[in-house]
Amino acid sequence: MEVPMLDLQAQFAAIREEVTAAMAEVLDTQLVCNGPAVRAFEKDLARYCQTAAALGVSSGTDALLVSLMALGIGPGDEVITAAFTFFASAGTISRVGARPVFVDIEPDTFNIDPAGIEQAITDKTKAIIPVHLYGQMAEMDAIMAIANKAGLAVIEDAAQAVGAAYKGSPAGSIGTVGCLSFYPTKNLGAMGDAGAVITQDAALDERLPGGIDHGQSPKYHHRRIGGNFRMDSLQAAALSVKLRRLDQWTDRRRAIAARYDEALAGLEGVVTPPLREHCRHNYYLYVIRASRRDELQAFLSDKGVATAIHYPLCLHQQECFANLGYKSGDFPVAEQAAGEVLALPLYAEMTDEQVEYVAETVRQFTA
Ligand SMILES: *Cc1c(COP(=O)(O)O)cnc(C)c1O
Repeated sequence: MEVPMLDLQAQFAAIREEVTAAMAEVLDTQLVCNGPAVRAFEKDLARYCQTAAALGVSSGTDALLVSLMALGIGPGDEVITAAFTFFASAGTISRVGARPVFVDIEPDTFNIDPAGIEQAITDKTKAIIPVHLYGQMAEMDAIMAIANKAGLAVIEDAAQAVGAAYKGSPAGSIGTVGCLSFYPTKNLGAMGDAGAVITQDAALDERLPGGIDHGQSPKYHHRRIGGNFRMDSLQAAALSVKLRRLDQWTDRRRAIAARYDEALAGLEGVVTPPLREHCRHNYYLYVIRASRRDELQAFLSDKGVATAIHYPLCLHQQECFANLGYKSGDFPVAEQAAGEVLALPLYAEMTDEQVEYVAETVRQFTA
């Protein structure tokens, strides 16, 4: 049996008519850049995320970038983030001229360790970027308490976490701003690149829209430097259709994860992903730890089961960050995770037979 990591064609087949009709409507108006369809999606998204505002942008990376810019972060500033995350969480900090400061992760959840954040704060620190890795939120109560005490902004990298929640609060709704990605493989994927910034802060809501359109307000009058981070209206039209199905897809993901948890419990050399009681996990990725990870990956591949490694190398070990002066061994928990993590296939359209086959194949390996 073949089991891919994801089957976007199966998902699209189920919503084809609705998506193409919504996109055709935008094409008829020819308001294809940052048009009315984007405003409509922003309203839907703000309601879904329970935030005062939502702003559609060109990608999740650009959501992080415009948030850093809107908060006035730049040269001489430091921003704290996790050593174990997707590159964009830190790359954007460098792009505004600030310095990424890495912190190790918690040994179980793969998320940034609040104790490490506290130790990393200096008088140059301006913000914290917690990343809700794999779809389970970081310890936001502890992070917000640290940020409030030190007067720091919190930019939630919720690129993997749409539909997740922490003590009932949706991902991205707790910090100063939340950044979402609608890259096609994410839980809410566009038909190309797209992202959003969500916020409860009315003042930021005033400043952010200018930032995505060269900082102009009024037109051709530039009080600040922005960029072109506008959302494509065709993406917004597709996203509005898909947002209506997100909870149903997330529920299916959670059911598959529960089945994996049960089927893989107690296997020698395999640790299933921890679930914090107070968190609603969206299972963007179902990531196990395996002591013989590379052998397991090869075994599964031979049996037709695709897997993925998010991420094989920590950020402090990346060549482009060599100038920051970190070395291997600085973040041992993150480094161990990079050598052990393995994402198993998990997507809403997976059949029960596929789920059982993946679980059975992992069991075969450990037997
Ligand atoms: C996907 C992702 C991003 C970037 O989003 P894009 O839409 O691909 O630019 C940022 N941070 C994390 C943690 C991600 O997973």
